[in-house]
Amino acid sequence: MSNLEVSIEEFLSSAEEILPDSSYDLVKRAFDVSNQNHKDQKRLSGQPYIIHPVNVAHIIMKDLGGQDKIIAAALLHDVVEDTHYSHDMMIKDFGLEIATMVKGVTKVSQIKNKTKDILLIENVKRMLIATIQDPRVIIIKLADKTHNMRTLTFQPPEKQVRIANEVLNIYAPIAGRLGIYKLKSELEDLAFQALDSESYKKVKDLVASKKTERDLHIEHVILRLEKWLGESKIPAILEGRSKHFYSIHKKISTKEKKLDEIYDLRAIRIITNEVQDCYAILGIIHTNFTPVPGRFKDYIATPKSNLYQSLHTTIISTDGKPIEFQIRTEEMNNYAESGIAAHWGYKEGKYNQLEQRFIDRWKEQMRFFTENPTANIQDFFSDFSKELHEDEIVAFTPRGDMYEFPKGATVLDFAFRVHTDIGLHTKAAKVNGKIVPIRTELSTGDQVEILIEKNAKPSPIWERILKTPHARQKLRQYFRKLQDELKKQGGVEFVKPAPSGNIAISDRDIVQIHRSKKKSERESKPKKPVNILVGGYKDILVRLANCCSPIPGDEIIGFITRGSGVSVHKKTCEVAGGFSDLKRLVNVRWDGIHKPVPVSIEVKAYDRPKIFLEIVDSISKTDTNILEAGASSAGEGTMIARFLIEIEHLDQLEEILEYIKSIKNIISVERIKNS
Ligand code: MN
Repeated sequence: MSNLEVSIEEFLSSAEEILPDSSYDLVKRAFDVSNQNHKDQKRLSGQPYIIHPVNVAHIIMKDLGGQDKIIAAALLHDVVEDTHYSHDMMIKDFGLEIATMVKGVTKVSQIKNKTKDILLIENVKRMLIATIQDPRVIIIKLADKTHNMRTLTFQPPEKQVRIANEVLNIYAPIAGRLGIYKLKSELEDLAFQALDSESYKKVKDLVASKKTERDLHIEHVILRLEKWLGESKIPAILEGRSKHFYSIHKKISTKEKKLDEIYDLRAIRIITNEVQDCYAILGIIHTNFTPVPGRFKDYIATPKSNLYQSLHTTIISTDGKPIEFQIRTEEMNNYAESGIAAHWGYKEGKYNQLEQRFIDRWKEQMRFFTENPTANIQDFFSDFSKELHEDEIVAFTPRGDMYEFPKGATVLDFAFRVHTDIGLHTKAAKVNGKIVPIRTELSTGDQVEILIEKNAKPSPIWERILKTPHARQKLRQYFRKLQDELKKQGGVEFVKPAPSGNIAISDRDIVQIHRSKKKSERESKPKKPVNILVGGYKDILVRLANCCSPIPGDEIIGFITRGSGVSVHKKTCEVAGGFSDLKRLVNVRWDGIHKPVPVSIEVKAYDRPKIFLEIVDSISKTDTNILEAGASSAGEGTMIARFLIEIEHLDQLEEILEYIKSIKNIISVERIKNS
């Protein structure tokens, strides 16, 4: 991170050096106008004001490779806002393109009766709208914020906090979404330092305390690698790099990891010429070190949605600690550090397919965001960062239509994104041609085919499987509607487990149940494990019968007990079938999401190595908790395994049973009575 400011002379001479003559002339003219108009103004540091626009322009020119027009706009970015020089004058002197960029970053002046928060939101929205027209506006703003953050200590403490919050919540996420990691890391670290100097210092010290040891080791690995690469005649530049403090802080505090457990704390970046060299280098690394399984990622074959491309792999080094490698070409490295700015800077208006897609998606997000009214600043911040996941996943339909999702989204989210009706009737899904559970997490590049069935119905456990707000909302709508319909039909509809006609529940019964509920609550305060509607009524004390242990999704009936509410049985339960007092039977129905219920299953199989592990695996891959597990030999080469597992819904149990059935050498699998 460079906190150095450049002087006017340094800026002008490097501009003269870098830019072609005609470009330099434009930049110099913009500098002169800015310098002239800001001449009586000073920064809080006491320096002449012009130092600020000069440094903003320098960041764009040097760090992001911007060309003449955006550099000129950066030099002029505060002129209209802070001086008498008007937008019209700028159009006359510099043309519409530059003047429009400047207008995009210009704040609206204080409007009366508006709070600071509202004003901030309005200004950010205004700028985002301008960004839709010319994406370079946001790059100027990010450079502007970067220089402001570098000189933040001159501001009064209260203002420091406000600016740092704004940067952490709005500008750093934008930089991440646009792939401009160079500015994102710096903005985050500076804001982190301003907002929580204590934690900042802690992380910094922590990293420093192990730095020498770490650096020595990295250097050693680099030397060995350079030798092998030299022997293979693969041109490459290797450099050790460390993660920025804020991201270490986030990993330590949110994932409760120790410093040693952070995989990419120690990383080596390798930059080479050709794409094929990247894979050759990967091969050399994997042959000579021990790779960590599951850590290899090919962002070259499937770039991140912010255009990031690279190979990632992690190895266990000779000191037993992980080292991450990032392998990429120089062009990819440009994208990795400057993101879309690697392109907006110079090749204006001409984008390749990937870039065009990216820009369209960005515009769509910004439109959504600027068109929706925002209640308060907290909502604004949180919606904004949710909307701008930098790690988006891109998945495709078999026809090649592309959809983007936040990390962690599942195949079921995909179904709902394609169409709500498809989501609601999802039966199964294929990813890259293979049938997978609908809870499977999407990865970038996946081709997803949703298999629907007209009669398939959504399950309440889907609420846990869905990760996107849009899809969850649709699912909730469905269940709300269903409930309304059932209510209209009259909630109290009675079952007839025995062939004896309809039975009705009287108000007196309900009152009785309520009373008994209160009484028992006084005594033992029972937890409410399940939500069950009794004759359409919520909040009636229910108990799941031990004889048949029903789970959500089972067809059930209720039996009004004397003094302890309603006991709930499976409809097929033999005990319930034997009830003679039919007046006490009542219609009950599962409602909403439930706490998991313990369920026993028994698997019979021909014994062979690893079969038990495969069964455990099938259970675990549905995110199901195993409470108890055991197996015993059953003679003649067969075995019996029993599991006590936590089930939220019948659908989940059926999914597990299906998986187990598909394992080789399984004879039978069934749900049994809990012992
Ligand atoms: Mn500024």
